[in-house]
Amino acid sequence: MKMQQFDITVIGAGVAGLVCAQQLQQTGYSVVVLEKSRGVGGRMATRRVSATRADHGVRYLEPTGKFLQQLINFLENKNNGPSSESILQLWTDKIYELTQSRGQLLVPKRCYVTPQGMNSVGKFLAEGLEIWFSRRVENMKPTAEKNWHLNLEITNDAATEKPTQVISRAVVVAIPAPQALMILEQPTAEIPSEFLQRLGLVEYDPCITVMAGYSPAIYENLPQWRAIAFANDEYLAWVGFDSSKRPQPSQPVFVIQSSAKFATTHLDTTDLQPVGQELLEHTAKQLLPWFKSPEWLQVHQWGYAFCRQPLTVSCLTTELPLPLVGAGDWCGGDNIEGAFASGLAAANWVNSQLENLLLPGESFLSQI
Ligand SMILES: Cc1cc2nc3c(=O)[nH]c(=O)nc-3n(C[C@H](O)[C@H](O)[C@H](O)COP(=O)(O)OP(=O)(O)OC[C@H]3O[C@@H](n4cnc5c(N)ncnc54)[C@H](O)[C@@H]3O)c2cc1C
Repeated sequence: MKMQQFDITVIGAGVAGLVCAQQLQQTGYSVVVLEKSRGVGGRMATRRVSATRADHGVRYLEPTGKFLQQLINFLENKNNGPSSESILQLWTDKIYELTQSRGQLLVPKRCYVTPQGMNSVGKFLAEGLEIWFSRRVENMKPTAEKNWHLNLEITNDAATEKPTQVISRAVVVAIPAPQALMILEQPTAEIPSEFLQRLGLVEYDPCITVMAGYSPAIYENLPQWRAIAFANDEYLAWVGFDSSKRPQPSQPVFVIQSSAKFATTHLDTTDLQPVGQELLEHTAKQLLPWFKSPEWLQVHQWGYAFCRQPLTVSCLTTELPLPLVGAGDWCGGDNIEGAFASGLAAANWVNSQLENLLLPGESFLSQI
């Protein structure tokens, strides 16, 4: 089967895309989510590393807004599969902040994490959805029958079972704005220039994440803290004691996130291992000497990590040539809360363009 038809296509299985797809599917629309990677959650990401896991994207959830508060309350009371362990647990209620002007501050913060990895939150939001993994949307165009026609590239040779074309009445583009622009600015998409101009205004900062595992021998010298945020360090933004999120860690694992400035200087670097080592050496100078000598390290480069200045709308819409809406952390808020709100707003708008049915709302995403 080369092509399949749905009411709505959602591009991107991050928080915004998943929340939007849940709303629309629960309302009765047929929905497909297209995702270029092999998993859900987007930047709420977890990697399997050396017999354990590390959160190399979102570090924790904090009840800072309406939606995150509800999500946290819900997941704190929901068990992970057959186990009696909650999906989400309080990790720490304080984080150190290092600033040049004020030195070391202990900042109260309620940080929630998932012992199985932060991508478990994405897995929860994805339950019951039709998601086609390893499918990158390459381009799209309106057809004479008033449908969007999307062409998909297979990003993983093993994933050949799903079609490479999709037809739908409306499209939700729930990916970072610069990536959305790559698809939508192609002339065949016939997108109005004002929509493209607004997309083009959005900029992101990059980030380099290092995941590093240490010898259990350093257990005696382990810090008491869970995480340190660096306010104005040239190299570092954050150091987190990642294995303290796991129930029985076999070794100490730390996740180190770079400053935007450091990541920007390495945008074109292809061999990232020495870059990771450089970041660890700097961490060793700032914190503890053994940081420079891990047993293993892995590096991930985020080209679009943090939205610098989101648009002031909750989603970006156009009815021409056919219903299309952009959503994500570049609309309204520059974080998970913003992505969540934007996904809901996009679902509302698409529904208003199609059948105008009663949407379930976020409470709490009708228990999924
Ligand atoms: C290192 C790091 C730490 C962070 N820490 C925090 C934090 O502590 N708190 C917080 O609130 N926020 C944090 N953020 C920001 C947060 O991750 C984002 O604001 C939020 O996850 C954005 O969700 P989204 O759905 O808008 O986009 P994304 O999560 O980026 O999802 C987009 C999805 O679309 C897919 N995709 C892209 N292009 C295509 C295509 N052409 N075809 C198909 N699929 C495509 C991507 O693979 C991805 O899965 C952090 C981000 C990073 C990188």
